[in-house]
Amino acid sequence: MSQIKESYDYVIVGGGVAAASAVKGIRSEDSSGTVAVLGSEPDKPVYRPALSKDLWLKDDATLEGSSLAGDLDDDDAVDLVTDTTVTAIDPDAHVVRLADGTAVSYGKLLLATGAEPRQLSLAPSARVVYYRTAADYQRLRAVAAPGSHVAVVGGGYIGSEITSALVQNDVQVTLVLDLEDVQEQMFPRALAATLTKDFADRGVTIVHGSVERGEETGDGVRIRLADGTDIVADAAVVGVGVLPRTGLAEAAGLEVDNGIVVDEHLRTSAEDVYAAGDVALYPDVLLGRRRVEHVDHAEKSGELAGKAMAGSDDTYDYTPFFWSDILDHGYEAIGETKSSLDMVEDWKDGEIGTGVVYYLASGQVRGVLLWNVWDSVDAARELIAETAKEPVADPETLRGRIPLG
Ligand SMILES: Cc1cc2nc3c(=O)[nH]c(=O)nc-3n(C[C@H](O)[C@H](O)[C@H](O)COP(=O)(O)OP(=O)(O)OC[C@H]3O[C@@H](n4cnc5c(N)ncnc54)[C@H](O)[C@@H]3O)c2cc1C
Repeated sequence: MSQIKESYDYVIVGGGVAAASAVKGIRSEDSSGTVAVLGSEPDKPVYRPALSKDLWLKDDATLEGSSLAGDLDDDDAVDLVTDTTVTAIDPDAHVVRLADGTAVSYGKLLLATGAEPRQLSLAPSARVVYYRTAADYQRLRAVAAPGSHVAVVGGGYIGSEITSALVQNDVQVTLVLDLEDVQEQMFPRALAATLTKDFADRGVTIVHGSVERGEETGDGVRIRLADGTDIVADAAVVGVGVLPRTGLAEAAGLEVDNGIVVDEHLRTSAEDVYAAGDVALYPDVLLGRRRVEHVDHAEKSGELAGKAMAGSDDTYDYTPFFWSDILDHGYEAIGETKSSLDMVEDWKDGEIGTGVVYYLASGQVRGVLLWNVWDSVDAARELIAETAKEPVADPETLRGRIPLG
């Protein structure tokens, strides 16, 4: 661990994806300013998508290869400090405080504290994993051997990816869904139902219900559902959404609204304090104020915030995309992809397999899902921009706008 100095030109709170990109942004404007990256995790920044995909699915993937610390380690003016939690920030004094009472002063401060998994009445432990970090990956790996049984709670983004990764590693999975189907809040009904069936066809046991409580039992876990059903497994992975880590900002009186409110330069309401990544509520040029919990946004907003802290006038006028891989499927998506919006589904040959889903509100395309359709994110972004200016009168005319390949 680097020794912490009393003062830095830039302090970054959080040792994740946005933090690593922010250093890159700083360096594109300022080649020598001193930087402290202060992160709570025992590990250096890691590219989180690998934790639920490549590290399970590619033989040559390693945690070391997924590290984002390379440039930071190579830079003598950057102190990358792990295992260190910032407990308070004082924007007037330009100081952050660490858990052991140490004060570190800054010229510019970035809050890149990300998001934390929502918890159930099921305490995290060696066998109960709220999946987010490299340590979580290692914990799950230690118990999820072929033939073992893992209960995955939640059929959203993380639950789907982990279930997919585990079944492909010959792990027996029980997937607990509180809705009817996997990713029902994002996918149209028929797609969600098809995916649930795909999981079942791959041997996943689907159980409907909500978790009342659970605990580690020494050599396994026991989960009690609200209807009295007990699930006994070797381990549990819980993926039931995340909450932005806004505590430091709130305590310091910064404007917070389910995210740290930032302007187009990613400046918070406090002077010289910026925010980026999962924690930032930013003004999207196409979609209005929103918070995005995806890695493309963490990278791009982190970099922009770094540049802005170092004096750049650039604005964050980028609408980020995201992606996922589930079993034999993959998708890219952009914007608001909520199944509560109006949807136009365009499936190749009318079969759920390859297709585009357009999500609309008042004739504006707010989001696009590209299901097994590639290289079309820019076209989708353009469509969002176009329909923001001129809403479509008949949504059905969207069919075919993005070729299905
Ligand atoms: C398993 C997994 C797979 C994913 N896969 C994809 C994918 O395929 N595609 C995609 O688009 N997105 C994916 N994501 C989402 C993406 O990884 C996140 O959006 C991204 O990591 C957010 O970056 P961040 O820097 O804002 O937050 P994080 O990367 O979470 O980093 C925040 C860091 O801040 C630290 N911290 C918080 N508070 C403090 C404090 N007070 N003091 C010190 N440190 C603190 C935390 O410990 C953490 O290390 C995935 C996420 C996970 C968990």
